[in-house]
Amino acid sequence: MIQIKDLHKSYHMGSNSLHVLKGINFDVKEGELVSIMGSSGSGKSTLLNILGMLDEADEGQYILDNVPIKNLNEKIAAKYRNEFLGFIFQSFNLINYKSALDNVSMPLYYKGIKRKERTERAMHYLEKVGLAEWSHHLPSELSGGQKQRVAIARALASDPKVLLADEPTGALDTKTSYEVMELIQGINDEGKTILVVTHEDDIAHMTKRIVNLKDGLIIDDSTVKQVRASEHV
Ligand code: ADP
Ligand code: MG
Repeated sequence: MIQIKDLHKSYHMGSNSLHVLKGINFDVKEGELVSIMGSSGSGKSTLLNILGMLDEADEGQYILDNVPIKNLNEKIAAKYRNEFLGFIFQSFNLINYKSALDNVSMPLYYKGIKRKERTERAMHYLEKVGLAEWSHHLPSELSGGQKQRVAIARALASDPKVLLADEPTGALDTKTSYEVMELIQGINDEGKTILVVTHEDDIAHMTKRIVNLKDGLIIDDSTVKQVRASEHV
């Protein structure tokens, strides 16, 4: 599903430059649940942003579902991004003045899907994340864990090929973090390809594979026994 080869990325600020990704190689197969782990500043978000087509590498190859992602014009890039990718962020990124239902259905509006189907699909995914009864509530009326569930429903509603999550549990307490990861495990069990960025070891161990990033390089890439939320209690 994802192939990256010798990916490099630097940031330039005035006369200074910072070499953040120094030759990243890895592949992700369809249906995998992978975490990208590393300490703060190791380049995790930079890598995820490139995978999410929110940013471009300076050098190297990125192939997403057999499509080479390079020098695409913004219109085509946006089309692939919308079709292929779903995003989950640490800070949820919900629209505060819209209900849970509207938050989930809005991206479908931009895809030209008619109102009735938008609402049906949004309700389906809210049910999936256990929030059917909260569909008419505003984000401010929801707990952190519930907000992240809405964000997950929103990401799933477009049925992306790959789900990219940047520190999805970063703003949540420990118990809620495990519950959100358990939801992510369940979505992966149904076949979705998912990448989770985290700096937390026990969150990473809830995925089947851990890619360890340090100083812009992968220092370890291993298959692990996936811990289930129930094993944490
Ligand atoms: P992580 O997500 O692992 O914490 P990031 O990918 O966000 O790491 O950042 C890696 C390094 O790149 C950090 O030193 C950070 O300060 C720097 N950095 C990130 N984004 C930018 C940017 N837009 N401009 C300049 N430096 C950046
Ligand atoms: Mg980050």
